[in-house]
Amino acid sequence: MSDGPSASDGGAAPLLDHFGRPLRDLRISVTDRCNFRCRYCMPREVFGTDFQFLPRSEILSFEEIARVARIFATLGVRKLRLTGGEPTLRAQLPKLVAMLAQIPDVEIALTTNGSLLASQAQALADAGLDRVTVSLDSLDDAVFRAMNDASFPVAMVLEGIAAAEAAGLAPVKINCVVRRGVNDHTVAGLVRHFAGDGKIVRLIEFMDVGTTNGWRLDEVVPARELIGRLSAELALVPLEPQYRGEVAKRYGTAGGRGEIGFITSVTEPFCGDCTRARLSADGSIYTCLFAVRGTDLRGPLRAGASDDAIAQIIRDLWSRREDRYSELRSEATTQLPRVEMSYIGG
Ligand code: SF4
Repeated sequence: MSDGPSASDGGAAPLLDHFGRPLRDLRISVTDRCNFRCRYCMPREVFGTDFQFLPRSEILSFEEIARVARIFATLGVRKLRLTGGEPTLRAQLPKLVAMLAQIPDVEIALTTNGSLLASQAQALADAGLDRVTVSLDSLDDAVFRAMNDASFPVAMVLEGIAAAEAAGLAPVKINCVVRRGVNDHTVAGLVRHFAGDGKIVRLIEFMDVGTTNGWRLDEVVPARELIGRLSAELALVPLEPQYRGEVAKRYGTAGGRGEIGFITSVTEPFCGDCTRARLSADGSIYTCLFAVRGTDLRGPLRAGASDDAIAQIIRDLWSRREDRYSELRSEATTQLPRVEMSYIGG
């Protein structure tokens, strides 16, 4: 099992954290804004009309993002994932993709709610985007509209997925956060719809990200339970991981028609192979999705620090990294003031 996409790094020793996990993935939040209000991420009662989003002056420019990404690539990063908030809300996003595509040996992916994908997919692909993951929590229009709390229709997300596929951003992955009593009764329909047409559905256990989504353990549907439910119809067979740090546990369906992934942060944590760092839209590095604090890079960037100095900040941070929140999750940890997922991207 390789150490991640295009793990060639010209022989430089990988940058390892306290547990020997290499730095391989950088998730880049390009905006903290979103046009949805998914209740498990950005509940409207907190992120309402009077919520103060980051002012433009505090958001990293494309040049700053590209510079940071280049420095991370010299330290072993091989996968860049653009996230948000909703990344397609950031104006001229293809321009940033084109800048990142100049970095050798990196794969560029995007995670989006699909709302603007139909109009942007081709330009993003032309700029150098490799792959796209679309969040779609249900095919049931009423359930989906309730979950995104922006009354956004399924049909428009499906149009975005079709446009991404037409633009060659395949295989398209579909992320679905499963919440008991909310959308778990529609999961089989979602899987059935995409089974066999080359798209990969990933079912995500509802997580206690941030401090605002009202997370409760009894609303988590363990992947084991979902596998049991779906196996009645689809005869799921486990597949080997493709590389270290792959987030989803992969299953094929009988007859090889399609693939389903299960992201089991709550019931089967995967911190042991976590190779991900996150860059917030205002330039701080987080070494875990459930981190309490980040490390500022924008200050040094704007104070004229050299690439070497920035690289040293990252080296020091990663080599001290001991994050494994999901393995340590407890009643006590759920009280920690964790950073909001919408601020650092999932
Ligand atoms: S909880 Fe933190 S360390 Fe564990 S897999 Fe998630 S991001 Fe990585």
